[in-house]
Amino acid sequence: MQISDTFLPTDIAISPEKPSKLWMPKRVLFTPDALDEPFGQKILERVNQYNLPVEILKNNRVTGLRGETERETYKLAKSTLAIVNASPSAFRLRPIPPSADYQFHLAEGCPAHCQYCYLAGSLQGPPAIRVFANLPLILNNTQNYKLPNKITSFEASCYTDPLSIEHLTGSLAETIEFFGKQSEKHLRFVTKFDAVDPLLHLEHNGNSRWRTSLNAPSVSRRLEGGTASISARIKALRKLALPRHEGGGNYPIGVVLAPIMPIENWQEEYGVLLDELRHQLDFPVNLTFELITHRFTPGSKQVLTEWYPNTSLEMDEATRAEKRNKFGGTKYVYTKDTMKEMKQFFYGEINKKFPEAEILYWT
Ligand code: SF4
Repeated sequence: MQISDTFLPTDIAISPEKPSKLWMPKRVLFTPDALDEPFGQKILERVNQYNLPVEILKNNRVTGLRGETERETYKLAKSTLAIVNASPSAFRLRPIPPSADYQFHLAEGCPAHCQYCYLAGSLQGPPAIRVFANLPLILNNTQNYKLPNKITSFEASCYTDPLSIEHLTGSLAETIEFFGKQSEKHLRFVTKFDAVDPLLHLEHNGNSRWRTSLNAPSVSRRLEGGTASISARIKALRKLALPRHEGGGNYPIGVVLAPIMPIENWQEEYGVLLDELRHQLDFPVNLTFELITHRFTPGSKQVLTEWYPNTSLEMDEATRAEKRNKFGGTKYVYTKDTMKEMKQFFYGEINKKFPEAEILYWT
């Protein structure tokens, strides 16, 4: 019996699977430079298959994304897909500890509506979804980054959810196949979407770790608008990990539990989630966990409050511990005692339920 079939209160149980819809933008903009790229042309072909309204911009600046209010700007931008070329700064790769040695970007922005979104405060300007048409150059540039005597890892989902727009771009497939040919480089990315079928057959050679972001059922229902349901994400993860002869993708997989929150009944809710995951991953699997607690900065709180004025997300500085980074910035995390209690719980449960898995970090 699945956990979702048992007699749990509805806010704790994982909801039965809802069919996920592919995201369709209301407008698709191409800059002239992006259209000159062969990969930009491929994106145009894909977009045309969906009969989406396409505009070719007069120059390489994407404008016209501002409404009269912040809320209008948010709505307008979040329904716009812009195909652009990444700027020269995208070719200077930065480290991204503890997730990977380097980060690079296939796109910036995401069509979902998570009320705690990590992009708030990291990306400037209206939150349109910008996809990079010069992807082949971006991928080749990763060849210039190699750490001595170790496999170098690259994170591709710091500024986007790459699966959320894959049907329109093909960028993730291109990237997985590129890394499939690299002997000492590994790719990592994370998603809250589930349209994995077209990517199961790719030649990844075990070089891509496909992670799914999961959360307590009630957190997901309340705060993760426009994403695939938790149940659909777990089923997609199962398909990704299953061996090829069983119709799966044979990918190494991971679970990113984020952002972990000490909501009411948090032990029960996260326990239900881990039980459902174990139930679906009932075969030998190459699995990692990353455990990330909720945090916010003054900047991200301001942006999120403008985007989601009625949010029920708790961002009360008074109940949090303040942490300063080496550049003088402040973030608000849970207090030491809460962190300790949660860490003990998650390490205990994961080690018990997934003895084969590796916990990469807790933060
Ligand atoms: S899926 Fe990730 S990037 Fe997209 S809105 Fe949610 S938190 Fe933000």
